[in-house]
Amino acid sequence: MTTRSETRTALDHLLTEIEHRNPAQPEFHQAAHEVLETLAPVLAARPEYAEPGLVERLVEPERQVLFRVPWQDDQGRVRVNRGFRVEFNSALGPYKGGLRFHPSVNLGVIKFLGFEQIFKNALTGLGIGGGKGGSDFDPHGRSDAEVMRFCQSFMTELYRHIGEHTDVPAGDIGVGGREIGYLFGQYRRITNRWEAGVLTGKGAGWGGSLIRPEATGYGNVLFAAAMLRERGEDLEGQTAVVSGSGNVAIYTIEKLTALGANAVTCSDSSGYVVDEKGIDLDLLKQIKEVERGRVDSYAERRGASARFVPGGRVWEVPADLALPSATQNELDENDATALIRNGVKAVSEGANMPTTPEAVHLLQQAGVAFGPGKAANAGGVAVSALEMAQNHARTSWTSARVEEELAEIMTSIHTTCHETAERYDAPGDYVTGANIAGFERVADAMLAQGVI
Ligand code: GLU
Repeated sequence: MTTRSETRTALDHLLTEIEHRNPAQPEFHQAAHEVLETLAPVLAARPEYAEPGLVERLVEPERQVLFRVPWQDDQGRVRVNRGFRVEFNSALGPYKGGLRFHPSVNLGVIKFLGFEQIFKNALTGLGIGGGKGGSDFDPHGRSDAEVMRFCQSFMTELYRHIGEHTDVPAGDIGVGGREIGYLFGQYRRITNRWEAGVLTGKGAGWGGSLIRPEATGYGNVLFAAAMLRERGEDLEGQTAVVSGSGNVAIYTIEKLTALGANAVTCSDSSGYVVDEKGIDLDLLKQIKEVERGRVDSYAERRGASARFVPGGRVWEVPADLALPSATQNELDENDATALIRNGVKAVSEGANMPTTPEAVHLLQQAGVAFGPGKAANAGGVAVSALEMAQNHARTSWTSARVEEELAEIMTSIHTTCHETAERYDAPGDYVTGANIAGFERVADAMLAQGVI
């Protein structure tokens, strides 16, 4: 019988080995630590997981593709970016996960995202494996024509690695409806196939699912509401701080507002806006989705209730709820301390790994309900899987049906995480619950499928 402390020692060795074998990938190390540190109880309780090198296989991607992406800018100058697709785990279904276009993208970032995606996708209960991809291309300030040429060049290599039964990319930071359109067009042209299920996040008129754009933000709010319900509270009348101003932030604010909460902030890399009356979504959508502008112009156009704080972080604004919806490691110890001081009740992650490990620890110690991204933001990929289902059946569902399914999935993820945490003596610890529940589902499939 292996004890928890023996298991923990073995996991510590594995973590050291991961750092050695994957140098200069701090985000991947962080994501691996965060998961492996919570697995000791389940590995001790179920020794069959230890035998066939299961965790060792889980931290090694099944396949990693790196490629050159040359393209010409509007001045005719040749630019060269780097493309990535990490196909991490396909025990539960085709690799599934977004593409991120952002200058900070490198292999370590894509591996952290792909690793998280394995557990997130498992938690949805749907048949999707984990993967992630992207490029260090920066779409900001690029013309539509440049973005199109970049996407076409990117897909000219990527197409041979993906497919509706193999690997199904979608959007992430810097990749929205416009980019998915250009990528899909090039895939269709090269392959001569109308293979709708090869990408998700498509336009509603050509194979996309209704509610897919809203799904990550809506799902995160539903998860936060479920955590509050567990404590005998609801969203009505609560003040919320939201970071970011992209797709996740926008639809987080929309759902919070619809459920009676007051979402008072949004942000981008230049600073944040605080609006006492609650963020005016029509104005924010006009600026971000139509003009592709910055949040400072929101404050200029909104009038007296709003102000722009250059260089500031939304976490200094007093609130009952915090929903980080921008990017990794955007909420650190100092931010957590400020949130706790101001009496925050729940933090629910709309982005992937936005809270540093130290900040998570502080929040949990202070008794704040903490919803980790792999559970809280799983609504996006869940509706992607529903988009795949609609594509396979050559049908499309009403938005009411998709929203209903999304709500059921988020409630079930919350229940699974909550119950799993209790089963492993960590009541209220959604990090442990999410990691173990996701792990068990993938591990069982891997065990059944042998050493591959
Ligand atoms: N990029 C999103 C995520 O982090 C969505 C992925 C997808 O829809 O495949 O989960």
